[in-house]
Amino acid sequence: MTRTSRRPSPVLYEVYAQCANEACGWGGKLYIEFAKTFQLSRAPDAGVSIPMPLAVRRQTLDQLAALNG
Ligand SMILES: [Zn+2]
Repeated sequence: MTRTSRRPSPVLYEVYAQCANEACGWGGKLYIEFAKTFQLSRAPDAGVSIPMPLAVRRQTLDQLAALNG
């Protein structure tokens, strides 16, 4: 069982979580990070930058070049 708590930046969530196993009882905090871009956003936000692996960047540039003839 988890409960999202904060979003300190556009690419990071802090999630407070408790183990679903009642016999365990662990509770703590997770960081969920937007780590990689594989498909560019069609509605990009200038304040958000999520790294794109070099191979994907090349592929995307090739696709754009093909579209532009
Ligand atoms: Zn547990």
